[in-house]
Amino acid sequence: MGEAESTPLALVTGSTSGIGRGIAESLREAGIRVIAHGIEPEAAGHGFFRYLRADLRDPEAVTDLVRKVEAELGPVEILVNNAGIQHVAPVEDFSEPKWNEILAVNLTAPFLLSRAVWPAMRKRRFGRILNIASVHGVRASELKSAYVAAKHGLIGLTKTLALEGAPLGITANALCPGYVMTPLVTDQIRAQAKAHGISEDEVSSRVFLRKQAIKAFIPVETVTEMARFLVSREAATITGASFLLDGGWTAQ
Ligand code: NAD
Repeated sequence: MGEAESTPLALVTGSTSGIGRGIAESLREAGIRVIAHGIEPEAAGHGFFRYLRADLRDPEAVTDLVRKVEAELGPVEILVNNAGIQHVAPVEDFSEPKWNEILAVNLTAPFLLSRAVWPAMRKRRFGRILNIASVHGVRASELKSAYVAAKHGLIGLTKTLALEGAPLGITANALCPGYVMTPLVTDQIRAQAKAHGISEDEVSSRVFLRKQAIKAFIPVETVTEMARFLVSREAATITGASFLLDGGWTAQ
């Protein structure tokens, strides 16, 4: 077996930006062959072992993604389900297409990807599945019905994968960050500042950090360090867990 073949292969969804990019870079630094993924064109995945584009709203594209990886590069040993989208609206105005998109990317894609990588993980008796949920996987906020439902669902999926994976050497865990300053959040801050006629700093402190005991955004590195450990061989007995990286939000 050549060196490249003996190094673990990881697929990190949504790794062109924000938290996913941080996790992909950190795994690459740990010597892992990282397949970056996103919805953007090829250039977005520059610097990684491979970049694959797939729209996770489309179930066929999701399963094709794993088929392509396995055919060209071999079995995925580490799957990080990170890609996620947000849409904010009162429940009575929440459109069904938006609801379906959020459920598709944030919940159905992690299920389909986990199912697709499962047989190869089972055969090798090794697998790591890490789902990037959110503090909204255990707490709700107004205007985020689809996101909160999807993230609660993702934690349920994580627990089931953990139980089924336990005899097979496959672990499944979830990370639940509070607010991390990424495009997903900066877009919301900009929109709220405009809507309320207040500064972006005021939106950050009055709206976003209101529920966190620590009034600071969670650094991307906090998430990536936890991720790196949970997908390592050393984390073999940690499974079915949801780790809160929420600045004390849920301590109340
Ligand atoms: P981001 O907006 O910076 O990046 C999103 C990524 O998802 C991009 O790489 C994009 O290509 C990919 N993506 C979006 N739509 C896609 C689609 N239809 N098909 C395929 N890929 C698609 O987001 P982020 O803030 O880094 O969030 C990453 C994850 O962390 C998400 O699951 C999010 O819910 C979760 N999270 C974020 C925060 C936060 O405060 N930023 C907090 C808790 C949880």
